[in-house]
Amino acid sequence: MKIAILGAGESGVGAALLAKNKGFEVFVSDKGSISEKYKYTLQQNRIKYEENTHTESAIFTADEIIKSPGISAKEDLIMKLIALKKTIISEIEFAARYTTAKIIGITGSNGKTTTTLLIYHLLKSAGKKVGLAGNIGESFAKQVIDSDFDYYVLELSSFQLDNVYNFHANIAILLNITPDHLDRYNYDFQQYANAKFRILQNLNAANTFICFKENEPINNYLINNTLAPKVLPVSLEIEQKAGAFFNGTSMIFNSEKGGFSIATSDLPLKGKHNAINMMCAVLAASQCDIEIDKIELGLKSFNNAPHRLEPVATINGVEYINDSKATNVDSVFYALGSFEKPIILIMGGVDKGNDYSQIEKLVLEKVKALVCMGVDNTKLINFFGDKLLIVLDTKSLNDALKMANSLAVNGDIVLLSPACASFDLFKNYEDRGNQFREAVIALNK
Ligand code: ADP
Repeated sequence: MKIAILGAGESGVGAALLAKNKGFEVFVSDKGSISEKYKYTLQQNRIKYEENTHTESAIFTADEIIKSPGISAKEDLIMKLIALKKTIISEIEFAARYTTAKIIGITGSNGKTTTTLLIYHLLKSAGKKVGLAGNIGESFAKQVIDSDFDYYVLELSSFQLDNVYNFHANIAILLNITPDHLDRYNYDFQQYANAKFRILQNLNAANTFICFKENEPINNYLINNTLAPKVLPVSLEIEQKAGAFFNGTSMIFNSEKGGFSIATSDLPLKGKHNAINMMCAVLAASQCDIEIDKIELGLKSFNNAPHRLEPVATINGVEYINDSKATNVDSVFYALGSFEKPIILIMGGVDKGNDYSQIEKLVLEKVKALVCMGVDNTKLINFFGDKLLIVLDTKSLNDALKMANSLAVNGDIVLLSPACASFDLFKNYEDRGNQFREAVIALNK
């Protein structure tokens, strides 16, 4: 049997290693150039590959295609493969065939990485044999070759879920569905939402579904469908008989076995959005039979990844916050809700179909100046230009920070929370966040 792998990044190369290990004939094809590190791995393992092209004749003869999540289904090659009725799967679908470990899958428009890392940390610090994979870290496929984990915590993007069919999570978490990546879903929110709901497929009565119930698409889904798994909702509004509720100061958990609560004031993750993430993580950890005292210790010792509401420095009483990972409007909504002080907001970049009306009220309440930072700021300026007193148009990080500084006074917050992708001015969101951090630290010298 022959497998063709499209895209030679972490997931594609991992899938190639697993496929080779399982005795398949493997061919890896990447339309761009392959990094030296991955080329070396492919060569060392005698895996055939090509770069800077897709040789259709070599791909069309494969029995199964593993597609990298970065490749859009609208690409010419993929359309041709679909027309030929070829099976196209994701690395997640492929790897899941070769592990018997329990799978905790996390998806949502925002909060995936934070929640995935937190669950991994709670399980690991409680002594479980647990792997971390999916949209994060080392490839899932590569790890299943020879690891002996009892659990995998998988961060799952909609692009990864697009091509799963028999994949089966034991615990599935859906944090929220808000507009994002609409460019990949024909600007149709329902198509994007449907991809997220694929995390539920194949779940049975022995499995658990954890979700934030006050997100409208999720709530509608719960009302209109009878679900096979046990459902544990998370709420910011009302205590749950089975599930969790955040009352502003404590998270309250209930189940048929009894209840417990955890105060949030001395926990490192702040804001309502992080209360949702923490409640989902705690419910998942309790489903893995981890005692409450271990869970509490884990919550306290958790260090989140950078670029997510990361405090950078306080200079002359002005706090600088790096939220470069906020690449859509909903994450900015929660970022603004996490602060009480006046905010100078740096926003902008590549728009993915944003609707700013969702944050209009909060921006008018909390933002004293909006500094737009992007090659084309027209959409932001058109929306906020006549609503806010100060809206500035800048085309570089240095200019944006200079403007923000000139406006900031003791007690203000300068918040980089762009609501947009970064590719117009930066390599990626990490590069944007790193440059922001360095520029802020340089101010202090
Ligand atoms: P993802 O992996 O889904 O992109 P991250 O944990 O990396 O999620 O967070 C991305 C952005 O979304 C950050 O700006 C973060 O502060 C914000 N965020 C985190 N959790 C949530 C949530 N539950 N709801 C809304 N925004 C969130």
